[in-house]
Amino acid sequence: MEQVSFPPLSRVAVCGGTHGNEMSGVYVVREMQRQKVEKVGSASVTTVISNPRAVEVCRRYTDTDLNRCFTDDILSSPVTDASPYEVGRAQELNLQLGPKGSAEAVDLLCDLHNTTSNMGLCIISYSFSDWVCLHIYKHIQKKITSIPVRLILLDIPLSEAYSQESLGKHGIGSVFEGGKLEVFTFMSVVDYPRHPETNQIMAGIHPQLQDRDFCLLQKGDPIFLSFLGETVHYEGEEPLYPFFVNERAYYEKNIAFRLARKKMITIPCLQVNKD
Ligand SMILES: [Zn+2]
Repeated sequence: MEQVSFPPLSRVAVCGGTHGNEMSGVYVVREMQRQKVEKVGSASVTTVISNPRAVEVCRRYTDTDLNRCFTDDILSSPVTDASPYEVGRAQELNLQLGPKGSAEAVDLLCDLHNTTSNMGLCIISYSFSDWVCLHIYKHIQKKITSIPVRLILLDIPLSEAYSQESLGKHGIGSVFEGGKLEVFTFMSVVDYPRHPETNQIMAGIHPQLQDRDFCLLQKGDPIFLSFLGETVHYEGEEPLYPFFVNERAYYEKNIAFRLARKKMITIPCLQVNKD
């Protein structure tokens, strides 16, 4: 099997409250700060509450979604008094944890979120070849057996990557065995049926789809139940896996659920360079 070597990666950031109403990350970061966790093994650990203003009012964000502000374009845009709070905050975080894509960026950035969808534990990564992230997924899947653990791949270039974990470079230590992994690759989004003029949502998720994240959706399966009682069926030719089904924060993003293709990939053995 193929083997890949990495330099020792030593700087880790754990972030919570990127969305101010998702409490797991806020709790983890505050608890690590209370316990003064600054090192784990040989790695230094930075803990960050990403959006303190939104955490204070327990809302996803105050002006705009912080976790869509980490594209190269937004990170390099001028900030004025009129700019959304989150745009300025994203640039502060980029200075503290990045700069994105540079040698100074933290090696591994864990950004912790919650969802109102029934998705178990998910790791979201940007690349098929981010071996470090894939190995972390494999490791967690082996350790945690009480709930499903899945990996979602958003295969887009780093410059267009919009979420906070894209600031970091990723990293681990020791030797990790390669092998086959099941992953979900993002394909498309499906919006709610909407009124053509007012854009108002005209249907809810069908009860037979609700809470069935990562259950295969076939052509003809019910997906929406209109407020008049009519069932809307899935029309796609290819059976795909829905996820983020009925995530509350996505009503404004025109997303009722996302669709993924299941794929088996092979990852190489990973070893740390000793120099
Ligand atoms: Zn979130």
